[in-house]
Amino acid sequence: MSESAFSKLNLAEPLARAVAEMGYESMTPIQAQAIPVVLTGKDVMGAAQTGTGKTAAFSLPLLQRLLKHENASTSPARHPVRALVLLPTRELADQVAQQVKLYAKHTNLRSAVVFGGMDMKPQTAELKRGVEVLVATPGRLLDHIEAKNAVLNQVEYVVLDEADRMLDIGFLPDLQRILSYLPKQRTTLLFSATFSPEIKRLAASYLQDPVTIEVSRPNTTASTVEQHFYSVPEDDKRRALRQVVRQRGITQAFVFVNSKLGCARLARSLEREGLKTTALHGDKSQDERLKALDAFKKGEVDLLVATDVAARGLDIKDVPAVFNFDVPFNAEDYVHRIGRTGRAGASGLAVTLVSPGDGRLVGDLEKLLKRKLEIEPIEFEEDRPRGRINDGRRAWREQDDEDRPQRSWDERRRESRAAPAPKDPFFDQPYQPPAREEVPAWEANAKPASSRVSANIKTKRKVAALFKSTT
Ligand code: AMP
Repeated sequence: MSESAFSKLNLAEPLARAVAEMGYESMTPIQAQAIPVVLTGKDVMGAAQTGTGKTAAFSLPLLQRLLKHENASTSPARHPVRALVLLPTRELADQVAQQVKLYAKHTNLRSAVVFGGMDMKPQTAELKRGVEVLVATPGRLLDHIEAKNAVLNQVEYVVLDEADRMLDIGFLPDLQRILSYLPKQRTTLLFSATFSPEIKRLAASYLQDPVTIEVSRPNTTASTVEQHFYSVPEDDKRRALRQVVRQRGITQAFVFVNSKLGCARLARSLEREGLKTTALHGDKSQDERLKALDAFKKGEVDLLVATDVAARGLDIKDVPAVFNFDVPFNAEDYVHRIGRTGRAGASGLAVTLVSPGDGRLVGDLEKLLKRKLEIEPIEFEEDRPRGRINDGRRAWREQDDEDRPQRSWDERRRESRAAPAPKDPFFDQPYQPPAREEVPAWEANAKPASSRVSANIKTKRKVAALFKSTT
C-alpha cells in the first residue's frame, strides 16, 4: 500500500466509498499531512491554495469526527450546526459546499451553503431544517445569525478557508463577530495561501497550539512559467498588451488589473480594438460572472480582464498566458495571478507591465520573490524602423541602464527565443499534479453553461442584470 493511499487512513466506510467514487487514488501532499492531524482534533494552520486538494484535507477528517452525531431524525434539534466553514467569495463557498456534499453523500450528515447576492428565504428554510456542516461567506452568515436562522453554540469545528483573502476583502470584523458566537472549546483550522503577519496575528488570537502544515504551491516546476516584466508608460500599456498577444500568438489570456473601474474600462477599450474581451469584477452580477466565465472556457472570449477578488476561486487554471496589466498592490497576488498559467508540465507566459510609478510595488515583489527583477524595455513594432527603444525603462531604473549596452530589437528577439525560461527558485518547487488534471478541466469538458453551473447559483435578478451597465 502506498504511503499516500487513502486506505491508510481507515476512514469510515461511507466516507471511503465516497472518496473511491470520486476516483481519488492517493492523497495529495496537503491531505497526507493534514488529515491525520485533523483526525486527532488539533488546530491546524495550513499554507495551501485552491487546487491542492485542501477541501478534502479538512472535510474528510471533519466529517469522520462528526459521524458520532449522525442520525436520521427529522427533528431540526437533532441536527445543530457542528462545523462551520467560512470562505471569502460565493464561488468558493459554492465549490466547497458541493465537495462537502459529495464526501458526505453516504452519511446522514447534512450540509448547506449560504452566501450573499441571493434570496435569504431558501437558505433560511434549509437552515431551519437543521444542518451539521454549514459553509458560508461571513456577511451572509451574520445576516442569518441576526435573523436567528443560524445558531452556532454547538459548533465543534470552524474552518477559516482562504483566510488571507478574507482579510484582504475586509472581513476581519465580521470574522471576529462570528467567532465570538462560537464555543471556546472547539477545533479551528485556518488555511491561507501565505502566512502574512496579519494571518499570524489572526492565528495567534483564535488557534490553540496549532500544527503548521505547508505545501508547495500547486504549480510550476518542470512546468515553466516564463515571466517577463516590461517597462511601459501607463498610456502605452494597451498597445503593449496587443503587441505581445500578436507576437506570441496568444490565443487566450487572463488580464489582471487592480481596480473595478480600470477593469471595465480596459475591457471596453480592448473590445473596441477588436479583441474578444470580457470583464470580471465585483460589481458584476453572479449571472454575468458565470456567463463570462463560461464564454471564456468555451473559447468564445479571448481575454478575460479581471480583478484579483473577482478571479479568486474561479475554476480556471492553465490559461496560456497571464498579463498583469497593473503590478498587483499586494505582492502575494502576483503568485495567485501567475499560478493560472503553466500548470503541470505545460509552459505558460506571465507578462507584467511596469509603469514608471510602480517602483514601490516592484520592490515589494522583489522582496517576496527574493530576487531582483529584470525590467525589460518594450519596443513597439511601429517604432522599430527608427530603432527607438522605449524609454519607460529609463524612467524606471536609470542607474541599471547606464552600464547595460542597449541591444537591437532583433538581438533581443533572438535571445528571447533561444533563452530557456528563467529559473525561479520561488516557483520552481516540486509539484505533484493530481493525475486527473492533466487536461485542464475547463478545456476538456466544455459543457453548456447550464450543466456546469451549480444549482446553488441562481441569479436573483436576471432581468436587472441585463440592464446593468458594465462599469
Ligand atoms: P481543492 O484544492 O480542494 O479545490 O481541490 C482541487 C481539485 O482536486 C478538486 O476538483 C478535487 O475534486 C480534486 N482532488 C482533491 N483531492 C484529490 C485527490 N486525492 N486525488 C485526485 N483529485 C483530488
